[in-house]
Amino acid sequence: MPAKPKSERKKTKLKRLANAKGNLVRELPAHWPRFATPDYYAWMMARMPKGAIEADWSKHQPHNSYGPIFWYEDKENTCVQCGVQFVFTKEEQQQWYEEYKIPIYAKANRCSKCRAIVRHDKRLQREHMMEMANRVPHPNQAFFKRST
Ligand SMILES: [Zn+2]
Repeated sequence: MPAKPKSERKKTKLKRLANAKGNLVRELPAHWPRFATPDYYAWMMARMPKGAIEADWSKHQPHNSYGPIFWYEDKENTCVQCGVQFVFTKEEQQQWYEEYKIPIYAKANRCSKCRAIVRHDKRLQREHMMEMANRVPHPNQAFFKRST
């Protein structure tokens, strides 16, 4: 096929640029990922499994992911701490990503029991630190303090 004349090629290029610009300018909420056109969203949502919960993108922590979460469904995982099989439920996921604003890249690695243990340990640590901060200083403390 012979090459098109230069003027013709330029016209084609301009047309393509105009089209691209038209595709970029769209009235979508600010939190929508750049690549997610309404068509793509509709196409994905048509494939949402039964019983899954639709994700509310406006409540997600801002991210640059090309794979945003469209819906939540129960996920099976193995606990890294005790090795037991557990289910990261869709309700928990919704709570994590929409209420607690945990980044969408995060996923549960521990079962709920181990998570409770970790939370308990952290609370104890926090309480201990508060106790240490509020305690009456030892009378000899000034002696050990560095004077600069
Ligand atoms: Zn566990």
